Amino acid sequence: MAAKELANVEPQERVILDKYLSDYPVKLGQLAKELGVTVKISSLGTGLSGQISREGNHYVIRVNRSEARERQRFTIGHELAHYLLHRHVIDSSPDGIRDTVLYRSGAPERIEYEANRLAADIVMPLPLVERELRNCFGGIVTEATIESLASRFEVSKAAMEIRLSTFAEA
Ligand SMILES: [Zn+2]
Repeated sequence: MAAKELANVEPQERVILDKYLSDYPVKLGQLAKELGVTVKISSLGTGLSGQISREGNHYVIRVNRSEARERQRFTIGHELAHYLLHRHVIDSSPDGIRDTVLYRSGAPERIEYEANRLAADIVMPLPLVERELRNCFGGIVTEATIESLASRFEVSKAAMEIRLSTFAEA
């Protein structure tokens, strides 16, 4: 099952989101654009992975240019999740939300937890992961499965490993 956060996305934005969750690797740049969010690969301070802030009437995500592409993709998912779920928190500070490498921002921990769960649903949609796991790997999670799925979804092995732990428990 997808995280409950997905159900908390506004209906209009959910329609946009769902269009992008049917193919992998998820086209995050296009998704952001359609949601009205600009993504910039930027020089962020050491220890920061991403930031989302309001600039005038729209929102800008900045992603640390020195991090690996797979990591940047998860960060974009995380910041988009803040946009979809926590816009009032972004709006309450001129700097918006600034996330450290551990995705901590000074916002309550629940907020970061929600953003991480929705980010996982965005970059690794469960129905797609499940389908690939079943069709290509007979539903069996091994080191090689994790590696191959990570590369298909363009995420880190660590992120995919966490994603697949859902199945291991089942
Ligand atoms: Zn965050």
